[in-house]
Amino acid sequence: MSLHRLSRKDTLPAVGRDCEAWCSRCNMALTHMIVAMVGTEVVRVRCNTCGSEHKHKSEREVAQQVKPKAERKTTGTTVRSGGTKASAKAPPADANRAARQLFQRAMGERDRATATVYAPSMLPRLGQLVDHKAFGYGIVDAMFDGKTRFLFELGYKILVTGRDSVAS
Ligand SMILES: [Zn+2]
Repeated sequence: MSLHRLSRKDTLPAVGRDCEAWCSRCNMALTHMIVAMVGTEVVRVRCNTCGSEHKHKSEREVAQQVKPKAERKTTGTTVRSGGTKASAKAPPADANRAARQLFQRAMGERDRATATVYAPSMLPRLGQLVDHKAFGYGIVDAMFDGKTRFLFELGYKILVTGRDSVAS
């Protein structure tokens, strides 16, 4: 009879039998002694390593419990970093869009026929309309020493101007 019970014990979990379980104190799957069962389900175990008694958690259950948290965390981080990335990327895009809108608004009031063909030697005036062979129409937005910032449809460009006057 005892042999029969032993063989059953070998195949089925039972109180007093060892089982592999997750120990939250040791933070790893270890051999635990089964302390309590409900039906065929192990509900309470004692860690053979640290001796702590706790609810039974199989490695799978732990993985299932840990994984969604980790996924949520990862997703949150991804969203956050993605959001950061997006917002980091957004300003240039927004700036370009803003520049284009500014350009289009400014161009709407101008007669393109009056545009000055851009040349490095040109002497710009603020608000002057230029025609650049690569960037198209542009408006003199700001002037520095020998350089001018133009507002083109594709955004702001700083180009050399007044080269001759700087040289003289
Ligand atoms: Zn333990």
